[in-house]
Amino acid sequence: MSAYHLIIDGKAVGTEECFPVLNPATEQVFAQCPKATEEHLDQAVAAARRAFPSWSLTADSERSRLIHAVGDALEAHSDELAKLLTLEQGKPMGGFAGLGAGFEMGGVVAWCHATADLELPVEVIQDNDEARIEVHRKPLGVVGSITPWNFPLLIAIWHIIPALRSGNTVILKPSEYTPLTTLRAAQIINEILPPGVFNVIAGDGSLGAAMSTHPDINKIVFTGSTPTGKKIMASAAGNLKRLTLELGGNDAAIVLPDTDVQAAAPKIFATAMINNGQTCAALKRLYVHEDIYEDMCQALAAIANSVTTGDGSGDVDFGPIQNKAQYDKVCALAAEAKASGARFLSGGEPTEGVGYFFPVTIVADIADDTRLVREEPFGPILPVLKFSDVEDALRRANDSANGLGGSVWSSDVERATALASRLECGTAWVNNHAMIQPDAPFGGVKESGIGVEFGRYGLEEYTSIQTLQISKA
Ligand code: NDP
Repeated sequence: MSAYHLIIDGKAVGTEECFPVLNPATEQVFAQCPKATEEHLDQAVAAARRAFPSWSLTADSERSRLIHAVGDALEAHSDELAKLLTLEQGKPMGGFAGLGAGFEMGGVVAWCHATADLELPVEVIQDNDEARIEVHRKPLGVVGSITPWNFPLLIAIWHIIPALRSGNTVILKPSEYTPLTTLRAAQIINEILPPGVFNVIAGDGSLGAAMSTHPDINKIVFTGSTPTGKKIMASAAGNLKRLTLELGGNDAAIVLPDTDVQAAAPKIFATAMINNGQTCAALKRLYVHEDIYEDMCQALAAIANSVTTGDGSGDVDFGPIQNKAQYDKVCALAAEAKASGARFLSGGEPTEGVGYFFPVTIVADIADDTRLVREEPFGPILPVLKFSDVEDALRRANDSANGLGGSVWSSDVERATALASRLECGTAWVNNHAMIQPDAPFGGVKESGIGVEFGRYGLEEYTSIQTLQISKA
């Protein structure tokens, strides 16, 4: 038996089978999660399909009001949800620079309210004696959302709120590693929304694929790895599902020689290690000009050697890596970098004992072809690479299949901006990295994804255009 339930058609649904949920700090099972079958998926899709006509025709102002109410309700349950996030995801409540579970809940509430206030007004293309031509935005129908384990609730909100705001109904499947915060939040949200508008199912192995081939789902929004994103794209072809794919990143940052190292290092550290490095748009490859290379390495190492990693239920800067597979990957990338002769300035070895703990690790003098540089580590480990020629740094930064974010750091903002615009990525920052906000579009180019999230551009992704041409002659 589980204390948690699926939510289908506004009702809490128990299941015959459950699967265990681990606390990554203790490796102990702390709860059982209901395990949905494909029958549950079909029931959820049918409920969403039934709810669609009425929800899509609900007045825009009423949908906006209900989504504000969702934001208020989640805020009222912030402490409870944040504690659950710490248990299943591992992140501390406060954490380094205050970017822990409390920060995630702050984002949840902020994104609800900002998205509730977005609008997609009718655009008039022509209005003369001959004709009036209007462009309307129509909801797509039933949206399937597949969410990851790094920011379980924040990313769920990024998927579902714009989908609902624009008149779609939703079925969400959380990661099997972190399903509970989402199930609990779905209960709270369903006290506000009409039945069937927002359904949540959980499972551990085949539901994602069943959703991406389901003939009655009109769109999939997925945040996760590039290989899984490619599989979704292939299986979505059956009914030409619309897609938003927010996939891996291996973001580069270029630090020009006129950068104030002492001022920039803490910001660079925070944006590389945000959420223990388990962030798609974290800074993951740092290219530093040779004139300030050693100073930057030492400044980053000093911060890395001063922070604490431990059980997120205590007063620590960073928690564990969320799951064993990711922990094993970080351990392997660190070991390979060490074997290649790279210089480790902090960390480098997994912490002994229980829990998926890996200390914050800064790696200098590392070759471009090392796996730690080529692949997204998605953990608390940052390679620092040296350059002498800016064009060479730009070429190396762009030499990646990924293109999520990138940044340039300099005291000459104009020069940095010109260089940043030449980075092949969806968001380019100057003197910052990984900064996002609800009204600025965010998404990847190349193999980092398709489409954008946030703001008006993100909202449009949950709609199709209907052109209305009214002849007057
Ligand atoms: P995956 O990218 O493999 O995603 C797992 C999710 O995808 C599960 O919910 C799974 O559902 C679903 N899924 C699997 N196969 C399919 C399919 N064919 N069609 C539809 N859905 C499918 O995540 P991992 O946890 O394995 O993480 C791997 C890497 O992804 C990490 O190392 C990291 O680099 C990256 N990542 C990126 C994130 C980001 O924010 N961009 C977030 C998390 C990870 P089911 O269990 O039902 O199969």
